[in-house]
Amino acid sequence: MVFETHITAHKEVAKGTHEVTLGRPTSFVFKAGQYTQVAVPKLTHSDPKGRSRQFSIASSPYDMDEIKVVFRNSGSGFKETLLHTSIGASVQIEQAAGSFLLPQKVTRPQVFVAGGVGIAPLMSYLHQRIDDVWEQPVTLLYGNQNPESAAYLGELQQMSKQHRQFSLDNIYKRPTPGLFAKLAEKHQVAVWWVVGPPGMVSVTVNGLHLGGISADKIMTESFDGY
Ligand SMILES: Cc1cc2nc3c(=O)[nH]c(=O)nc-3n(C[C@H](O)[C@H](O)[C@H](O)COP(=O)(O)OP(=O)(O)OC[C@H]3O[C@@H](n4cnc5c(N)ncnc54)[C@H](O)[C@@H]3O)c2cc1C
Repeated sequence: MVFETHITAHKEVAKGTHEVTLGRPTSFVFKAGQYTQVAVPKLTHSDPKGRSRQFSIASSPYDMDEIKVVFRNSGSGFKETLLHTSIGASVQIEQAAGSFLLPQKVTRPQVFVAGGVGIAPLMSYLHQRIDDVWEQPVTLLYGNQNPESAAYLGELQQMSKQHRQFSLDNIYKRPTPGLFAKLAEKHQVAVWWVVGPPGMVSVTVNGLHLGGISADKIMTESFDGY
């Protein structure tokens, strides 16, 4: 199913990283962790991959007015077009999809691993759940080249200060299986949620396996196309 909507805001949320806000159609339903396909009516910059891309939803399912998506500006024709599409202009979104469904009840420790804009589905979840009582700790391992390119960093730092059960660890070095094998030792009983570009997801998962985490405790979402 396709929904007609419009852009309500553009915002730079980190170096070269752009957030687009769209009006939320009344019958558009989604769960934290899901994605949608965003299409522009017409490309103003040519793009061999066409006029749409899949983006995870970064806003809370409880926000009935808006939907946010976030992406690195790669220079592709689609993203150039979207970046230059004015507030009020029409875009289309598809019915939300995806099985990376974040836990609505935290009954054991959780570790989230986000590579770059892989933070998007986790922001949706954190906005929805951060004020709930968590019986178990939630740790976010957030990988970026440097603090300037880490989207929503200030907001995440604020959340970790305000909520005892939520902690944020930033990683500013290239991820290796060895790094994640080591991190796995600290979080042996946790459920792991890994999201980001395919290379980052596979390095992380390899490391977690090396560190003794079994496959049934690792959920992944690969941003194919990166
Ligand atoms: C389930 C799912 C969820 C996703 N969620 C997100 C999300 O939340 N945010 C997000 O950003 N992406 C997300 N993606 C990936 C997204 O759909 C795109 O594939 C990705 O953003 C790359 O799109 P692009 O237009 O930059 O590059 P593409 O045009 O698809 O090209 C691939 C690569 O070539 C490079 N490239 C392309 N054109 C140019 C050019 N003109 N000049 C220089 N370099 C160029 C880009 O750097 C890019 O890395 C998701 C994918 C999936 C499957």
